[in-house]
Amino acid sequence: MVALHGKGVARGYAIGRAVVLGAASLEVAHYRIAPEDVQAESERLTQALSAAQADLLHMADTLPADAPRELGAMLNVHRLLLADPLLAEQTRALIAERHYNAEWALAAQGQILGEQFDAMEDEYLRERGADVRQVIERVLQVLSGSTAILPEAGDLDGNDPLVVIAHDISPADMLRLRGARFAAFATDLGGPTSHTAIVARSMGVPAVVALGNVRDLVRDGDTVVVDGAAGVVLVNPSPGMLQEYRERHVAYMAERAELALLRDERAVTLDGIDIVLNANIELPDEAAAAAAAGADGIGLFRSEFLFMGRQKLPDEEEQYQAYASVARVMGGRPVTIRTLDIGADKTLDDEATVATNPALGQRAIRYCLARPEMFATQLRAILRASAHGHVRLLLPMVTHMHEVTAALAAIDAARRDLDARGQAYAERLEVGAMVEVPAIAIAIEPFAQALDFLSIGTNDLIQYTLAIDRGDHDVASLYDPLHPAVLRLVANTINAGVRAGKPVAVCGEMAGDARLTRLLLGLGLTEFSMHPQQLLDVKREIRRAHSNDLRVKVATALNRALPVDLDLLGQG
Ligand code: PEP
Ligand code: MG
Repeated sequence: MVALHGKGVARGYAIGRAVVLGAASLEVAHYRIAPEDVQAESERLTQALSAAQADLLHMADTLPADAPRELGAMLNVHRLLLADPLLAEQTRALIAERHYNAEWALAAQGQILGEQFDAMEDEYLRERGADVRQVIERVLQVLSGSTAILPEAGDLDGNDPLVVIAHDISPADMLRLRGARFAAFATDLGGPTSHTAIVARSMGVPAVVALGNVRDLVRDGDTVVVDGAAGVVLVNPSPGMLQEYRERHVAYMAERAELALLRDERAVTLDGIDIVLNANIELPDEAAAAAAAGADGIGLFRSEFLFMGRQKLPDEEEQYQAYASVARVMGGRPVTIRTLDIGADKTLDDEATVATNPALGQRAIRYCLARPEMFATQLRAILRASAHGHVRLLLPMVTHMHEVTAALAAIDAARRDLDARGQAYAERLEVGAMVEVPAIAIAIEPFAQALDFLSIGTNDLIQYTLAIDRGDHDVASLYDPLHPAVLRLVANTINAGVRAGKPVAVCGEMAGDARLTRLLLGLGLTEFSMHPQQLLDVKREIRRAHSNDLRVKVATALNRALPVDLDLLGQG
């Protein structure tokens, strides 16, 4: 038996037969063309790009009704990348100037673009490098006239559940895979926000990514166990192990069925404290899943997604449509739109500057205040969307009061612009700040006074408090949500909110981790925001918890600056 350890990105267990997918090979033919063939080679590239584009469009148009919503959006991202002039023009330049054949030129340009993405600090953006590679592999397939990298659904016979083993899986591949009955995914590449992860979660099947070399170690037909919670893949396990995992699978499925019954139940503690459970989304399309999961609202709409993977920024109209669509889907429930949270290392429009330390550089609100026109466009779009529902505005990475003052002035200016145009917006727009920089969590009172609500971004708050780069594997073990300093900052923020009569939420990953629900309740938290898939697990913990008991236990530990022992809180 071989046990492989990766990152579990979608929970659950699967036992099945491996289907090992071949990579769309980047081992392409490399040869130089004659100068007189440049035109023809360029034309060959153009045709391949159009064919790949047509193929993606066809897939998007014929998306099965039951396909995860994310797939359509992902196919669109691929179409945008494919249509990016940088890709075609630079590749053509390599054909014309260096006389590379089309495959070579495309692979070379793909490598350059891929490396640019790999160098990005933001994990989400970094993973878009995989999209670039997938798009290029697609075009390479067309150029080489090869068939799809995936077996046709018809080839997948037998009755065992099938586990997909792959180097990486593109959204288009994922769509084809949906036709068959796959029980799990395991890939060499990927992270928590990779397509494999997102789609697997939305399909409700387990997935383990970042396994490194699973494709080399597993043979077609091997028996594999995928443990999506622990991030483990077992290859040809012993009968005893198989039995153990069968039992875990049965128990897990029974638990999910029971959990589904909670969908319409209140999120209320045993001592009667009502808790708000909101959803985090990145794409407008995800709002439907949030509403379906019974979310009370959208606690965090990471608007930067709309700005990524493209050369041209979305204009006011496009942003307005996106924000308004979420407001409409949520039908009066609050929709918290966070203004652009992008860093100095992430280029949106050819600004190739890399800050010395991007996490401490011109990121988020700093980035927006330095680009008043871009900020004003987003503010007008958010204000206009507020006419269609209950929209709230959230400012990321606030550190100084003057940033709040400047943002509020920019919002007022945006209102005046809309008045001059005669365009509608809601009379009142609540404005809040992310609490994710230790400075504001320590000196929180004036912020609690000046703003309508606060939302604690524990992902960054932990990073900045513990001086641990959240994307750096070497220090990942030191990234500790239970560090007493982190908990004191969270508690300080919640208490300040209570004193000022302003709602305080947690929207970082801590909020969706059901193992931490009792701890957060013990800190006095009454509003959580998380991935829609996590809502019911957290709701169950809330309904089993006695808030006041937990508050006493957590306060005792905090006063002594001791790490909280989760076992003592009796987490279910
Ligand atoms: C956070 O920092 O906790 C947060 C929610 O924002 P993001 O993960 O987008 O930085
Ligand atoms: Mg953050």
